[in-house]
Amino acid sequence: MKLNTPISEISYVGPKYSKSFQKAGIKNLKDLLFYFPRDYEDRSEITYINKVQPNKKYLIQAKILMIKSYRSPHKKMHVTKSIVEDKTGAIQVIWFNQPFVSKQLKKAYLASFIGPVKSSSTGLVLSNPQYEIISRGQQTKLAYQHKDLIHSHRIVPIYREPAGLTSKYLRFLIWFHLKKLEKIRDFLPQEIIKRNDFIPIETALKEIHFPSSWASLKKAKIRLAFNELFLIMLYLEREKELRKAHQKAYAIPFNQQLVQSFIYSLPFQLTLDQKKATWQTVKDLEKDYPTQRLLEGDVGSGKTIVAAIASLSVAATNYQTAIMAPTEVLARQHFQQFSKMLRKTKIDVAMLIGAEARIYDSQKSRAKKISKQKLLEALATGKIKIVIGTHALIQKKVKFKNLAFVVIDEQHRFGVGQRAELLRSEKYEVKGTKEKEAPLDSRPQTSNFRLRTSDFGLQTSFLRPHMLSMSATPIPRTLSLVFYGDLNISRLKELPKGRKKIITQIVLPHERDQVYSFIRKEIKKGRQAFVICPLIEESEKLQARAVREEFKKLSKNIFQEFTLALLHGRMKSQDKKKIMDDFLANKINILVATSVIEVGIDVPNATIMLIEGAERFGLAQLHQLRGRVGRSSYQSYCFLLTDLPSQKVTARLKALIASEDGFELAEKDLEIRGPGDFIGKRQAGLPDLVMASFQDVKLINLARKESGWILKKDLSLKTFPLLKKILRYMANKIHLE
Ligand code: ADP
Ligand code: MG
Repeated sequence: MKLNTPISEISYVGPKYSKSFQKAGIKNLKDLLFYFPRDYEDRSEITYINKVQPNKKYLIQAKILMIKSYRSPHKKMHVTKSIVEDKTGAIQVIWFNQPFVSKQLKKAYLASFIGPVKSSSTGLVLSNPQYEIISRGQQTKLAYQHKDLIHSHRIVPIYREPAGLTSKYLRFLIWFHLKKLEKIRDFLPQEIIKRNDFIPIETALKEIHFPSSWASLKKAKIRLAFNELFLIMLYLEREKELRKAHQKAYAIPFNQQLVQSFIYSLPFQLTLDQKKATWQTVKDLEKDYPTQRLLEGDVGSGKTIVAAIASLSVAATNYQTAIMAPTEVLARQHFQQFSKMLRKTKIDVAMLIGAEARIYDSQKSRAKKISKQKLLEALATGKIKIVIGTHALIQKKVKFKNLAFVVIDEQHRFGVGQRAELLRSEKYEVKGTKEKEAPLDSRPQTSNFRLRTSDFGLQTSFLRPHMLSMSATPIPRTLSLVFYGDLNISRLKELPKGRKKIITQIVLPHERDQVYSFIRKEIKKGRQAFVICPLIEESEKLQARAVREEFKKLSKNIFQEFTLALLHGRMKSQDKKKIMDDFLANKINILVATSVIEVGIDVPNATIMLIEGAERFGLAQLHQLRGRVGRSSYQSYCFLLTDLPSQKVTARLKALIASEDGFELAEKDLEIRGPGDFIGKRQAGLPDLVMASFQDVKLINLARKESGWILKKDLSLKTFPLLKKILRYMANKIHLE
């Protein structure tokens, strides 16, 4: 049987089960065999009947002396009663509402029974046990070590149960097909297997489902987790190496004089981290192959200025920069910031959001509206050196003369798939020209995300932009190795001077009124507040409704005297903009919002951040929300409301009170909530053991070392055809995500 045999065609899977499997994303035999247990239960120890005690769970092996079923008269319950016996004694067994039991188990059968023992008026009873038939009669000797037992006498796998499928059935099915499993072609080269003493892949698969011991289970886990990590690393590192080897970029010379005089002209001093990141970025730009850097820094750490200086450098060489933000609000804010910062340099800065286009007129010190058509022309002719916008920038009709640098702000806000898309430099390929040598194996032909340099300046063919991604979500080190292995990383750890510590407090339900009156007082002093509604991940619609309700409640019943406004993701962009403008102008006292405002908007007069349902957010996210306040010399406050003050929640929220260091909080978040929080819930479909390995520094480093070894030996992977094939498949998958 082949691993790609459809699930509907494998033994013991009928149409009904087949449907359930399809729904759970298990489409073929391979998916089934890679459906790893979520847990294990040690059912290897058999207890003699004369040793069992009440209120404990046991595995016994016994012969059925009697079994009968009936309906209990008053409760109308289906009851099956039995007496079973081993060489030390007998015990009663009882099942409620499991009519099939008496169809499967018969007198004289030998079986394992696993379940809790309880005491009753008639003595000890084994209650609702799971069971496995060992033999049907004749055999009188007890088979203590029966090789073919699946559900007992071993460490037993427990599976997550997709709708319509039970763990017991999965166990049986996987067992059956594992037994028939032929040799699998192993993509790991023998050298790597030998060097690391890895077990063969077939053994790993057998052991992960039916471990022969805890020690061998561990070996299987390591082997399978390594497989995944290794492939991810190989893929990312190879992209980076291929970029270096085969792709060309504009090499932007570092104009020290210009950059320095610009830095001197700033009203503040750059922090050390800002200087370092700026230096690293302009050094990237000097390379003649496309570089990609991730700039991580807390909200307010001053990432924008790093991007601005680099863009200035690029513009001074007469090349173009595109800056993309995930929301309109943010794009507008960047446009304002950039225009202001670069005013004296006379560089044309433009903005494109949907159909709306603006250009900054440095002579008159103001932005003016222009037609989108005009803007597109100015980009194509290269008149505009810096353009800031939203997704509008990656429309097909946007063409550049010589796009040399792309900045993606708050890159974590782009979905995992989009992000992968954005990080793939081929989106920026030159129209109408061919690669000399295709650097990647497979290049899907269609893409929604193409930022094309234009075909105006043909000497610029083959050239791709450098890229700087910025993120306010500090990513734990292990995760950044796994997910951003192809990026260079800069971190801004130090916040600009003069920031006041934000006072953070956990607020319990009965303290709500106190907080409201505190907010009232602050607003009367002239300050403003954010109220963030609980996160509802399932649906944006539900989320929007929740915010509307909160808004109604607050404006009708609590803060009648103030002006409140509502902001959520489903609103029209014009309305959102109006509200943000009004909030910035202090025409609105309280902004009731979803976590859309998480993204870096800057309202210095806002000093209060109240977060409802704080337990639903990750630490990193809370930290980011908190960063919306504390942007002025006024004292700021962050209130974490929770209706669920369990110990676990409180401990987590306390971490937020204790630390202001986003990187530290991110590490903690990873520790407490696991990687699902960082890589998105959808990705959490990954097997637990792979997820867990994302925190295993040692294994990650090993995977890196070994993938590096392969790439050094043969970047083309000609000598590793199977690996090459798998990587091609991965590239497609990432692309189609
Ligand atoms: P973020 O990293 O969240 O994008 P910004 O780049 O928007 O942060 O910077 C936040 C604010 O801090 C801006 O008003 C910016 O002008 C200011 N700022 C940046 N760097 C410094 C610095 N070194 N000293 C003082 N203020 C700074
Ligand atoms: Mg920012």
